[in-house]
Amino acid sequence: MDSLDRFAAEKLASLDAKNLRRRLVETAREDGIWMHRNGKRLLSFSCNDYLNFAQDARLADAAMAAIRTHGVGAGASRLVTGNHPLYADLEARLARIKGTEAACVFGSGYLANLGIISALAGKNDLILVDALSHSCILAGAALAGGRMLTFKHNDVADLECLLKTHRKNFRNAIVATDSVFSMDGDLAPVTELSKLAEQYDAWLLTDDAHGLGVVSHAKANVPLQMGTLSKAVGGYGGYLCASQAVIELIKNRARTFVYSTGLPPPTVAAAIAALDIIERDPALCAKPLAKARAFTQRLNLPRAESPIVPIILGDTDKALAVSKMLEDEGFLVAAIRPPTVPPNTARLRFTFTAGHPDAEIARLAEIVAARVLA
Ligand SMILES: *Cc1c(COP(=O)(O)O)cnc(C)c1O
Repeated sequence: MDSLDRFAAEKLASLDAKNLRRRLVETAREDGIWMHRNGKRLLSFSCNDYLNFAQDARLADAAMAAIRTHGVGAGASRLVTGNHPLYADLEARLARIKGTEAACVFGSGYLANLGIISALAGKNDLILVDALSHSCILAGAALAGGRMLTFKHNDVADLECLLKTHRKNFRNAIVATDSVFSMDGDLAPVTELSKLAEQYDAWLLTDDAHGLGVVSHAKANVPLQMGTLSKAVGGYGGYLCASQAVIELIKNRARTFVYSTGLPPPTVAAAIAALDIIERDPALCAKPLAKARAFTQRLNLPRAESPIVPIILGDTDKALAVSKMLEDEGFLVAAIRPPTVPPNTARLRFTFTAGHPDAEIARLAEIVAARVLA
């Protein structure tokens, strides 16, 4: 197909011209924080594996035992025959941790938002989304086909203005936001959002992908709490915690749940083992944020609110050059470029995990102070 290859080649050339082409780099992981890339050993500040669970022996043992008992795959959608016995335990744990009646596990966080939002909203509904929300919230809203409007990042007054103007013209309304913003590391004003949502009879959905296990929230009244098992939990999968009625509906109507195969048993077993540790070891869960704060304090940056610390450089070329410089110093810090972040806000995004050695954080801060912020 000549026209197809020409289409692809032209698109790629245009990405190249803007320095926005991305490339996969083979990266082998040693123990959760040390990586091997391009023949070099690097300390990663670019993983979302906040509790270093992805290589944890306890999770691996649980996964291995599940493979022996239940096999490597679910074999079908959960509504057909894929609902293996490990799911009930995982969903009960998630509901307990989030303080809801029930929970539903999806194939991934991305699939969760696609399925949840499109199951709860349709073309007569209003979907209000924080402007910096994750791509999968926007994709879910697009799939739902309702009227989507964005409110200014973390701006409760702007949201209120939109609700005042538009809420009355729609049947139902959803307000959706990251609870910890994935590229900025700041927190949504969940308590204020939940009050406002309640006042206008809108359903608040928080995406806690970067919160579970590392940032504890004020207990706000959030009826739709989704998140992922792919970050602090160390493995893969997504979830929604909500009331029994909502979860039953989701299990009947969310397309990415109904028409997609259940998670493999080892993945579910590993998530159970991870949540078990998260529930029992608050000191471990506090470490990533404490490490991030040590870094922001050394650099006189605003105090970290989560384990994610951005340093915004603006220019894409500059972000790439600084990332390369840090790689030469033994650190893996990915440059984040548009369209992942808004135009002219290319940045370094540092993520801190429980296992990062303090001395290495100090050395990183010294280099950043002298060669990036100076
Ligand atoms: C990573 C992320 C997701 C997607 O989760 P996956 O399980 O990786 O698909 C969703 N929302 C936010 C805010 C994220 O950061």
